[in-house]
Amino acid sequence: MRQTKLTKAARGRDCQIRVPGVCNGNPETTVLAHFRLSGTRSGMGIKPNDLQAAWACSACHDAVDARRKTEFNHDELRQMHMEGVMRTIDILVSEGEVAA
Ligand SMILES: [Zn+2]
Repeated sequence: MRQTKLTKAARGRDCQIRVPGVCNGNPETTVLAHFRLSGTRSGMGIKPNDLQAAWACSACHDAVDARRKTEFNHDELRQMHMEGVMRTIDILVSEGEVAA
């Protein structure tokens, strides 16, 4: 995987998606989970930009990317993922990693 400043910044950080009953809470498994959205640069083989992404533990990452079955539906998982993106951006801004 291509390493960027923001994919590196995700390493070892707390999961910001926190799917109830799913999140493993293990920062060692955290990666940057991109949020696909029509009207943005995302699609087949194209990754959204690195600010359109949430710090996600491996369990939440699997849940929002539908690799793992949960009690939540697609829309609920989309909302959790989106809120995780907002929390992640907030931390990046507060730490001066990105300007706003
Ligand atoms: Zn999680």
